[in-house]
Amino acid sequence: MQPNGKRSLSLTVIVVLLSVAAQLGASAERPEPRLVPLVRVVDLDVGESRTVKFSTGAGVEVKLLSLEEVRDNVRSAVRRATVRVKVNGQTISLVSSTYRLPLTVGKVQIDCAVTRGYTANSSKKNAWGLVKDARLRLWPIGSPLVKPGTFAYPVKQRWFASDTQMANVPTFVDGGEIPSNKNIYYHYGLDFGGAEGLVEVVAATDGLVVSSGTERLPDYDDSPVAPRYDVIYVLDSRGWFYRYSHLYEIDGAVKPGARIQMGQRLGLLGKEGGSGGWSHLHFGIKSRQPSGLWGTVNGYPFIWEAYQRQYDPDIIAVARPHCISWAGEPVELDAARSWSRSGTIERFEWTFCDGTSATGPQVRRTYDKPGEYNEIVKVTDARGNTAYDFAVVQVLDKAHPDQTPPAIHAVYYPTFDIKPGDELTFKVRTFRTTHGRETWDFGDGSPKVTVQSDGNAQVHNPQGYAVTKHAYDKPGDYIATVRRSNERGEQAVTHLHIRVDEN
Ligand SMILES: [Zn+2]
Repeated sequence: MQPNGKRSLSLTVIVVLLSVAAQLGASAERPEPRLVPLVRVVDLDVGESRTVKFSTGAGVEVKLLSLEEVRDNVRSAVRRATVRVKVNGQTISLVSSTYRLPLTVGKVQIDCAVTRGYTANSSKKNAWGLVKDARLRLWPIGSPLVKPGTFAYPVKQRWFASDTQMANVPTFVDGGEIPSNKNIYYHYGLDFGGAEGLVEVVAATDGLVVSSGTERLPDYDDSPVAPRYDVIYVLDSRGWFYRYSHLYEIDGAVKPGARIQMGQRLGLLGKEGGSGGWSHLHFGIKSRQPSGLWGTVNGYPFIWEAYQRQYDPDIIAVARPHCISWAGEPVELDAARSWSRSGTIERFEWTFCDGTSATGPQVRRTYDKPGEYNEIVKVTDARGNTAYDFAVVQVLDKAHPDQTPPAIHAVYYPTFDIKPGDELTFKVRTFRTTHGRETWDFGDGSPKVTVQSDGNAQVHNPQGYAVTKHAYDKPGDYIATVRRSNERGEQAVTHLHIRVDEN
């Protein structure tokens, strides 16, 4: 018995050592990119032109004609950057990132990923690797933006089920828009708000796990990889590095050196690390940019396309990004980027926090009192399909810029395939105040429910979010509202849209 036992033990040891050696051997050698991205990237100064070649051999002449950047007067952050570009002789205006998709001109699709002004007062330095006036990205007309079968939506959740911070929008959900802070965290990656410890995070692509938590492969010093206990880095066959951050839990199979498959479970969404205390997946892509530097790839068009392929929505409402202003100064809410499979949105119906309403894709409003407002837009297409989104407006007092009003974040789970009677989990957390309590109105005539989050007093508090459960009795579209006020009576309000299907 004894010798046999010993032999099988040593065999096991040898097999383990061999497999470790094989893994290290394979991983020490950095894989060469095999997949050529469909996108072509060109950085230009105003007045400069360049010929961009697609893999089909077709060449496109691109010239940057002008750049205009509009900054807000609360923080002097770039809120809207517009470039005029000449493409094969045709001129087009593009607004950079901020929830915009590529536009078609002539025989190409084109977007503007970032402009110089963002790099000037960014708290994350030049996260884009841009050293010219603007970065343009081009695809052939009719081409997918990312090769089908190579990119998946990284959270198992409905589109815009909660707050998001995407594509160069200043971070705001955790109350980060503070007037005295002139360094702007333009969110170069994609943040998906979701329910902590409940929403599954999956791999957007096949790839090699370069780091998982604090463990990492050797030989990736020349890369964007910066391991942290809550973070996974994956290298895909395009040579792009993917960062998944703030994870509540990392799946046991996700170890440095492991090959993972698109759609594979990576773990659960959380608020770990530098999340600011709001539960979300931070999903970021970095690649070598034309400057030779590592820089952010704006993944918004890719997740848009991936979601379309996987979930086949009929209609999507887009009322993002959020706005910020001083009380008494006007803001424009814009839902014009809403989308319908059937072509056009026929109706835009707004319902405001003050009980008034309006119609049209854009509305101009002025807020007299500081607070965080959350305005509902319902969009309807020619076939009668409807969708909802919410425009967040943060309003501050110019006379007391350091008296910041509260901010609020809410989520629900699950977000798909909800039937009458299903028990849903609702979580809420308020930021910038520990005064008061949150009050839920689930929008179905049921009694209001009061809870109390910790007000983000302790960022990583496992009980930081206040949790409550609710079930809807009948199918339909419901808007849940939750609000909390600070000691000055300044209120933060947010909404969730819950669709309850027929049984
Ligand atoms: Zn983030």
